Amino acid sequence: MKVVVIGTGPAGITAAQTVRSLDPDGSVVALCAEPYPPYSPPAMADHFLTGRTTTLYWKGPDVVARLGIDERRDVVVTGVDTEGRAVVLDGGEHVGYDRLIVASGSRLYAPIPGAELPGVYDFKSLRRATELIGHVRSGEATSALIVGAGLIGIELSLLLSELGVATTVVEREGWAMPRLLDEVTAEVVEQAVAAKGVTLRKGTEAAAFEGAGSVSGVRLRSGDLLTADLYIAATGVKPHTELLAGSTITAGWGIHVDDGLRTSVSGVYAAGDVAEVADWLTGERYVHAIFPNAVAQGRIAGTNALGGETLYEGAEAMNSLKHLGVPVIAMGTTQDPDQVLRSLDGSGLRSVYLRDGRIIGAQLAGDTHAAGLYHSLMLRRRNVEGFGEHLVDPSFTLATVVWEATRPGLSSRRTIHSSASGGPSRI
Ligand SMILES: Cc1cc2nc3c(=O)[nH]c(=O)nc-3n(C[C@H](O)[C@H](O)[C@H](O)COP(=O)(O)OP(=O)(O)OC[C@H]3O[C@@H](n4cnc5c(N)ncnc54)[C@H](O)[C@@H]3O)c2cc1C
Repeated sequence: MKVVVIGTGPAGITAAQTVRSLDPDGSVVALCAEPYPPYSPPAMADHFLTGRTTTLYWKGPDVVARLGIDERRDVVVTGVDTEGRAVVLDGGEHVGYDRLIVASGSRLYAPIPGAELPGVYDFKSLRRATELIGHVRSGEATSALIVGAGLIGIELSLLLSELGVATTVVEREGWAMPRLLDEVTAEVVEQAVAAKGVTLRKGTEAAAFEGAGSVSGVRLRSGDLLTADLYIAATGVKPHTELLAGSTITAGWGIHVDDGLRTSVSGVYAAGDVAEVADWLTGERYVHAIFPNAVAQGRIAGTNALGGETLYEGAEAMNSLKHLGVPVIAMGTTQDPDQVLRSLDGSGLRSVYLRDGRIIGAQLAGDTHAAGLYHSLMLRRRNVEGFGEHLVDPSFTLATVVWEATRPGLSSRRTIHSSASGGPSRI
């Protein structure tokens, strides 16, 4: 069996590794547009700050040689001939397959005019990120403008600031990381970001990147023009689906897959940031662009490409900020809770979102010790009504869960805020 994998990001290399381990005698070909060993995008900031490559090349720099994967770097797949079972490379070469796994990931973008202008950077790709940081290190760039204060925009602003770049982030919404954090947790992030010297302009909408030939400014909805040495589009990610144009593999925003990660074409699978998968909580299908989802999906696509019948249980949202100086973890959703519990004390801020007595989301800043426990209760859809406000007590631990199982009806102790409406409110 010959399996071709497009992309060696977290999804692609996991798929290739899975195929290799299940079929040691088969052939695995991995094609990647970039000239590096398989890397972890979340580790790029640490790599640029410290020069370390251990977490960047998270499977080891020699992973493909070690596993006997036929890897080709610096090749771009431009098309898929599903009739002829071959992918087409930028030079015109056809690479045949028995099974194909599309794991081409996504790029950072902004859905505004001019976002594709030369000079607008995509800090998702190590190649583009290396170019960007090269401008900083050479002294050519001393200021940067980032459009979008999502997780990647904020992480990048911290990195650039650390490297001495005067960095401004514009965010359309009224608080930082609005898709991940509620307004209260976001305040912690905003204070930490400001302390690191980043200028965050909330409620500021970018209308377009402007420039003749290459980018030279960002026009705001207000009409003002902001300029800097470096520009980064970071309002979200856009799946790399352009290689499917003209093929019969169907895609919307991302590639359509079933729960076995099979695409609309027999023998073709998709995994990671490029695929639209079900949300574990709502069942809604969309692109869930986070690392653990990509790895889990890569494993399943690899297994099923060899005839397995493993079903993906659904993607979840869990993320953490690594370079803030204050640990911040967010998981699940803040949408439509029927109760929000919060506590704030010297150890930190914790918020738990409940619907029908179950945790649908949690956010922790400062002390994150119970994050794993919330996560586990959330994924197990465990009814947590019995804990009441103890859920957000800093002393809430697994021992509390076990104790409650034998002695239900804990009395209320210390909670700063508990809202039935669920809407974020300030402490
Ligand atoms: C700065 C940063 C911080 C992040 N932090 C976190 C975090 O804290 N936690 C978390 O869970 N997630 C985080 N993420 C997101 C995480 O990195 C992604 O979800 C993950 O990388 C997705 O893996 P993937 O393999 O699907 O896609 P990608 O990592 O995008 O890899 C796809 C690969 O395919 C290649 N490719 C694309 N098109 C083609 C083509 N036509 N031909 C050949 N090759 C192609 C690309 O060059 C790329 O190498 C972060 C991302 C960034 C950029």
